[in-house]
Amino acid sequence: MVLNELGARINGALQALSKASVIDEKAVDALLREVCSALLESDVNVMLVQKMRQNVKKRVNMDELASSANKRKVIQNAVFEELCGLVDPGVQPWKPQKGKQNVIMFVGLQGSGKTTSCTKLAVYYKRKGMKVGLVCADTFRAGAFDQLKQNASRAHVPFYGDYSETDPVQIAIEGVAQFKKSKFDLIIVDTSGRHKQEAELFAEMEQIAAAVKPNNTIFVMDGTIGQAADSQARAFKESVDIGSIIITKMDGHAKGGGAISAVAATGSPIEFIGTGEHMHDLDKFSARPFISKLLG
Ligand code: GDP
Repeated sequence: MVLNELGARINGALQALSKASVIDEKAVDALLREVCSALLESDVNVMLVQKMRQNVKKRVNMDELASSANKRKVIQNAVFEELCGLVDPGVQPWKPQKGKQNVIMFVGLQGSGKTTSCTKLAVYYKRKGMKVGLVCADTFRAGAFDQLKQNASRAHVPFYGDYSETDPVQIAIEGVAQFKKSKFDLIIVDTSGRHKQEAELFAEMEQIAAAVKPNNTIFVMDGTIGQAADSQARAFKESVDIGSIIITKMDGHAKGGGAISAVAATGSPIEFIGTGEHMHDLDKFSARPFISKLLG
């Protein structure tokens, strides 16, 4: 089930509650059944869904509810808060500081939208007045160098890459060193995504991380992948210290489950969502407006 269908289903269940003649435990259970089934069909992990159901029931104390003047509001608020909790790990994303040489490393599978998101983030911070540089440390995918270089030049962001060097760690070290020397505020390192989760990919990420010691590592995940999100996010978290998450392709057929699983598996906050292929299609993420919008 894609994201807007998930929103519509939950909204429908909340509206059904508004119309119910009696608000009792049975009505709350019926609402939760529908909300939980919608979440499961959106590929949210079954344990998370169960936890969410228990949490709503804990929030809505039936004895207190009996005497409450606005039962519907109490229940709807409980569901809203718990949905927010699913996409909010309660941690603030790391922020670069102007005047310091901040390094961000991007990780994620090939095709996730990593290279596109590197440029989007560079543009985002450039507009905030930072001096930003991009480093292409992806020597695996033919064309990665040209893609990032082209994006960088379109965005007027300085770029470092080396066609002839085959060791991505060397490129990352050299690129970061050059930009640091020129007192760049933010240096964004794009890494290889390979095709799938494989040992070489994780070893390479670990080596680059050890060499450039990033201040933050951003995990990029395709918002359309559904059930695979949980294991993918877990695998990346085991190798690198994920600081924050960018979920891409939220303009298309994104599934709610992907974003929710990524947060649950990593304990890291979603900082941005990608909403298109253009360099400006990057939206700051925050849980409450996201859930409000989801519910329409
Ligand atoms: P990488 O292999 O992870 O570096 O992925 P790319 O950055 O090359 O992106 C893969 C494809 O996804 C490209 O066609 C991008 O234009 C597209 N893409 C990336 N982010 C988004 C997004 O937020 N929305 C949409 N619709 N497409 C995106």
